[in-house]
Amino acid sequence: MAKPELVSLRQLPAVATVLAAAEAEPWLERYGRVATTDAIRQVIDEARETLRAAPAAAPSAAELAQRAGRLLDTRTPGLRPLFNLTGTVLHTNLGRAVLADAAIEAAVAAMRHAVALEYDLDDGVRGERDDHLRSLLRELTGAEDATVVNNNAAAVLLCLNTFALGREAVVSRGELIEIGGAFRMPDIMARAGAHMREVGTTNRTHAADYRNAFGERTGIVLKVHTSNYRIQGFTAEVDARELAALADAAGVPLLNDLGSGSLVDLSRYGLAKEPTVREAVADGARLVTFSGDKLLGGPQAGFIVGDRALIEQINRNPLKRALRVDKLRLAAIEATLNLYRDPDRLVERLPTLRFLARRKADIEAQAHRLQASVATQLGDAFTVETGDCLSQVGSGALPLDTLASAALVIRACGSQSALEHLATALRALPRPVIGRVADGALRLDLRCLAEADEAPFLDTLAQLDHHTLAARIS
Ligand SMILES: *Cc1c(COP(=O)(O)O)cnc(C)c1O
Repeated sequence: MAKPELVSLRQLPAVATVLAAAEAEPWLERYGRVATTDAIRQVIDEARETLRAAPAAAPSAAELAQRAGRLLDTRTPGLRPLFNLTGTVLHTNLGRAVLADAAIEAAVAAMRHAVALEYDLDDGVRGERDDHLRSLLRELTGAEDATVVNNNAAAVLLCLNTFALGREAVVSRGELIEIGGAFRMPDIMARAGAHMREVGTTNRTHAADYRNAFGERTGIVLKVHTSNYRIQGFTAEVDARELAALADAAGVPLLNDLGSGSLVDLSRYGLAKEPTVREAVADGARLVTFSGDKLLGGPQAGFIVGDRALIEQINRNPLKRALRVDKLRLAAIEATLNLYRDPDRLVERLPTLRFLARRKADIEAQAHRLQASVATQLGDAFTVETGDCLSQVGSGALPLDTLASAALVIRACGSQSALEHLATALRALPRPVIGRVADGALRLDLRCLAEADEAPFLDTLAQLDHHTLAARIS
């Protein structure tokens, strides 16, 4: 007599049988034959493992089709939109800047249609892809010329490789930054083929340190914005203007890597002042690099602005081709930069700036408006209050600067683990809600919740899986 588990294993329906079941039809319709077959194979494999571990009746073809359907449904795209209620406006892990409507429309149009990417419409001949941005960047920064690449890391890499391949790149020991995501200045220099020539000390670097380092082998000198840290106390640095004069005297190009950089004076909007690109250019740096998706509020990109002769050299570097940006992003960048030509309406139009400039009173009022509805959606196991919190700019911009904000502060009535389970359930929503758990509370900082997103936010919370949540909490 056969063993019982072998009997039930033999009763397990074949893939073709499950595919043919009426219950498989909706999934075939929605996901197609290949993906559905794949999912069926996977649930049959799982069922086989379960039966081997503990003999039981084999699931029917109908049941397996249902399981396959649930599996297909849970494979929702990872890049789906979410609610960033972390309080970090430019959250690198959450995609940094949310784009302006104008940028979105421009990118969509560029996706849908042919565009004059490298085509001169006046003369009907081949054009250059940088032409679209060159005049805008010149106008907004005061630089002679400009080019754009994949991101600021690429911009720095390209400058180093163009001017310091096999030569020395001079940099202060106080500015050897590491930015999140493995951007480390010494490593980038090595990969660019440049020999790093450190000068000064961690806390103090003087003009003489640079002067003594400049020589035959110098290819470039760098000034790097210490985006995500500050050196305080007994410190000295050579400011950009003085360093530009030193570099010019030695005939060495100065690259000022601003990191975030801003095209407008942020103090105008109640934020701490960051050096603007225009100031860095005016201070005499021959090249200035900055990001597209940090304070600028556009798509990922890296800008290099500066002297025409140097930009031309950069454009002749074969690496430029490997680091170039596509038409989608060029369209979005152009539309974003265009907004800067009208600074009076920038806050209305540029989400990054709108979020950063939001006043606490406004956010607090929003929290009070939502508090009761959110409490209802979360149920009896949690309390919801409106409380103070501090938002951050993020992406290493203005690292020491926090912005007074307001949050929905959620606490668990019972055990603390309930809060973690709630955070997990919120992340599992069709449009995930990401907050911050600290000090026994889950805080949803509403700084980045646009008013138009309030109703979708409440609709999303209404889809919370209370069944699973309750089971986990108890
Ligand atoms: C952020 C940053 C970079 C890297 O810019 P990405 O656009 O993220 O590639 C380089 N240098 C500095 C100083 C930065 O702050």
